[in-house]
Amino acid sequence: MLHQHPEFLTSTARLAALSVIVVAAGLVCGCSGSNGPAGTNGSSEGTGTVGSASGARDANPVGKLNIVTTTAMVTDVVTAVAGDRAIVTGLITGNQDPHMFTAGSNDVKKMLGADAVFYTGLMLEGRMADDFALVGRKGKPVFPVTEGLDREKLREPPEFEGHWDPHVWMDVKLWSECVGHVSKELGTLDAGSADEYQSRADEYRKQLSELDAYIRKVIATIPKEQRYLVTAHDAFGYFAQAYGIEVKAIQGISTDSQAAISDINSLVDFIVENKVPAIFIESSVSQKNIEAVIEGCGSRGWTLKIGAELYSDAMGASGTYEGTYIGMMDHNATKIARALGGKAPEQGWQGKLSNKTEH
Ligand code: ZN
Repeated sequence: MLHQHPEFLTSTARLAALSVIVVAAGLVCGCSGSNGPAGTNGSSEGTGTVGSASGARDANPVGKLNIVTTTAMVTDVVTAVAGDRAIVTGLITGNQDPHMFTAGSNDVKKMLGADAVFYTGLMLEGRMADDFALVGRKGKPVFPVTEGLDREKLREPPEFEGHWDPHVWMDVKLWSECVGHVSKELGTLDAGSADEYQSRADEYRKQLSELDAYIRKVIATIPKEQRYLVTAHDAFGYFAQAYGIEVKAIQGISTDSQAAISDINSLVDFIVENKVPAIFIESSVSQKNIEAVIEGCGSRGWTLKIGAELYSDAMGASGTYEGTYIGMMDHNATKIARALGGKAPEQGWQGKLSNKTEH
């Protein structure tokens, strides 16, 4: 549903029914978490956790900040800026869905024991709001990394006035602005190292700016009439807006409802009419729906390929290139471009991608 920003309204109007189904979930978390518990990428086991997995203060070498973060994307940014000045512990790891994540007492304990907590904000971690408030009341600095973003740049789908789309990391430029905010906050916490944070942030933002240019370039190689991202989850609204591709999210299709058949049929119509070559999967989406769409296209004489598994709300396995923010975005852009008839190097921007998820 969140892909319906104004310039796409006309062309997505025919799929409006499909979008409406996921409205309820999206209203709360800015994203459809309605189809199963995951909403994240199946191949991701990445925690992005650096240093002590327990986050215990005792394991913290003297002089280092003890920072607790939420998603792997936030963990990655804070780690990049903090360098060896901090032990960074991510709470939302592996396949856990940030929209649905509830902090256990151990997580709250980790937050209370930290020097600071960084999270995404914009209600991504909607079920942790009370915990952040509690930790804040106990005097711990709690920072949403998206806080400093110009609200004008945020997506606010018209049907959900007052609720922002929280998936800002999908636009590398926007996420890069969050990096600046993290550096400022770390400099406040640890003034002695402020210059160090600043220079690491500058270096990281330089890399992000090159990554952004790469994504822009490869998405632009997709023939214009095929620039449609048919995918499971509505996490790609910012990606669409930033890089000029239109998203059709299929997560709203419920196999139980009568409407499902007509939803699938209209999606099939759209794919066949626009000759969209590939559909992208995420583990949270029923294989049944994907198969129904592929089958529907087949019966209309159109062979729809499975493009690749994309990373949306979680990254790849910890310790792999895809288990970094840069690797995750490189993977998504490269796989999307290649599957939709564009040009991108097989191993991606930095020649580091593994090919295991290419179909
Ligand atoms: Zn999401």
